[in-house]
Amino acid sequence: MAGDGIGPEVTTQAVKVLRAVLPEAETVEAPVGLAGIDARGVPLPDESLALARNCDAILFGAVGGPGEEALPRDKRPGTSLLLLREALQLYANFRPAFLFPELVGASSFKPEVVEGVDLVILRELTGDIYFGQPRGIETDASGQRYGVNTMRYTESEIERVAHAAFRAARQRRGKVCSVDKANVLETMQLWREVLIRVGAEYPDVELTHLFVDAAAMMLMRTPKRFDVIVTGNMFGDILSDAAAMLTGSIGMLPSASLGEGRTSVGQMGLYEPIHGSAPDIAGRDIANPLAAILSFAMLLRHSLGMGDKAKRVEHAVRKVLAQGYRTQDIFQPGKTMVGTAAMGDAVVQAL
Ligand code: NAD
Repeated sequence: MAGDGIGPEVTTQAVKVLRAVLPEAETVEAPVGLAGIDARGVPLPDESLALARNCDAILFGAVGGPGEEALPRDKRPGTSLLLLREALQLYANFRPAFLFPELVGASSFKPEVVEGVDLVILRELTGDIYFGQPRGIETDASGQRYGVNTMRYTESEIERVAHAAFRAARQRRGKVCSVDKANVLETMQLWREVLIRVGAEYPDVELTHLFVDAAAMMLMRTPKRFDVIVTGNMFGDILSDAAAMLTGSIGMLPSASLGEGRTSVGQMGLYEPIHGSAPDIAGRDIANPLAAILSFAMLLRHSLGMGDKAKRVEHAVRKVLAQGYRTQDIFQPGKTMVGTAAMGDAVVQAL
């Protein structure tokens, strides 16, 4: 599902890599976002959803473009992602933020702050204020308009993402930091209660809590203290973009959205770069395809049970960075500037 804007450009590079490491893979393409609207009049055509349900994994580009605000909400390109997440119950969105040592100078942070950053933000994806009812823009008795959205989480929604966080921490450095706003919001008070209860089942994992405002500050000041950060949909949305900047560029960071669905060897999932469709640079062969390629590596690991091939792809990315290849967003003087397609070719070459 390549989508719109730079989506097809970066996904094409990830598919090149797929062909190189997994030539036997069967792939199908399905339009989503503005491409879905062009093809079938809706952002997520039924045919696209049916194809997605039949696959072990989805490689997603990005959706959206200029003028989308004017469309009714159910016709907006972003709706395709929300519907896919809901339909496939992809509630756990893993967004690793790690800094390749070769890119230390590309971050806007001081090297000593970001060198060695290796954290994962686990964002709950199917609940919270983005889905809660009631929502809308209404008019009150005095004729004044007001907007309303509802922050809502059930205990079971919090429990399942909490388990996902503790399981992920066991595969890493054994630390979970839960981010909430329990001092002000009842929904978040429940969030914290459930995290503490579930955490008791994982005595080997250290659980800490931070209010989201403090977490934002700590993430910028001492990012190396974090291992797994688990948080709700809205806070995760914001914090993960901030975390992206620790690592130099939004064009470097992959993500995986996982749920209860299983493949024969792993979890059914949707894999996408965390960036959007970047209409400002679309069609110019300058977008960084590494986030899409690294998303494919996550796909290999989590949905296809091919951790060894995932590592090969990640090493190939590291190698092209070491060779000095840089797209514009991560360029530093003295390095070799390449376009989107050339970067994809370089990764295939390194493989
Ligand atoms: P964006 O992530 O598309 O772009 C933000 C900035 O980062 C832009 O300056 C862009 O040029 C740059 N950038 C993004 N990806 C890059 C890459 N791979 N290489 C180099 N530079 C890159 O966010 P935005 O500008 O807020 O949104 C643009 C469109 O994308 C909107 O229509 C929005 O709705 C949509 N969007 C889609 C998704 C998604 O599909 N998951 C996520 C976020 C935004």
